[in-house]
Amino acid sequence: MILDLFKLDGKVALVTGADKGLGQGLALALAEAGADIIGLSRSDSNTTAEAIRALGRQYHAMHCDFQTTNADVLRNIVDEAANQFGRLDILVNNAGTIRRGPALDFSETDWDDVIQVNLKSAFFLSQAAARIMSKNGAGKIVNIASMLSFQGGINVISYAAAKSALAGITRGLANEWAKHNINVNAIAPGYMATDNTAVLRSDSNRAPAILDRIPAGRWGTPDDLKGAVVFLASSASDYMHGAIVPVDGGWLTR
Ligand code: NAP
Repeated sequence: MILDLFKLDGKVALVTGADKGLGQGLALALAEAGADIIGLSRSDSNTTAEAIRALGRQYHAMHCDFQTTNADVLRNIVDEAANQFGRLDILVNNAGTIRRGPALDFSETDWDDVIQVNLKSAFFLSQAAARIMSKNGAGKIVNIASMLSFQGGINVISYAAAKSALAGITRGLANEWAKHNINVNAIAPGYMATDNTAVLRSDSNRAPAILDRIPAGRWGTPDDLKGAVVFLASSASDYMHGAIVPVDGGWLTR
């Protein structure tokens, strides 16, 4: 039956940035659908672990700062994650950072840090996961893109570069890995009420301008991504490859 295709019972998902914001909502959604979760975080919080264990699912926490890591470390992390519960079916590349400032004054550090965390880490985690998934004959990779995978934004040039490129590698990897039965897709959240947008939401000019443009009439929440991530992580999306799915309250339609 159709709803059975959305079930994730027996699956294991690695979710980056799982301890707060959108990543926490994504991890909870996958667990509610039946998956056990490995949460990869920089910080050391137990909030997501407790919520997931309360659902009767297993949770294992791993730690890494993507700012200071490299491809070998990321590969070891993915291998360790796959060994934890004996398999790896789903990777959600959610962790991300943002630096704000006008392009004329933008620093090399603010460029490199955002590309490193939002793009390079996502690629090398995907590569390591796909090496395992291709041997297993199946896998799901879900990248968390952005409206700035489609648009330029204002004063966030390295973020726009990274998220546009993340959409690009989503399509490129989908092309290469579909033959291994690995689906690579992305969710492009709209303007969501998390720490990532705290500066915007407290800006008395930008906050009402953004809200005015959202047809749904409100900022998004982590819960708003739950349906999309379960869909893209489950068999219900087996024929989807390289899609960048907006979940944006209609922002892009304006
Ligand atoms: P958030 O609350 O700031 O969460 C960001 C997550 O990324 C945190 O878990 C954070 O870990 C992790 N992270 C940041 N830098 C890291 C590093 N160097 N190494 C490892 N982990 C790191 O913001 P969010 O809105 O939930 O963002 C989640 C994703 O959604 C990001 O990729 C963001 O670009 C994307 N997104 C957000 C929006 C929005 O409107 N909020 C819209 C489109 C896309 P710590 O807790 O340790 O800092």
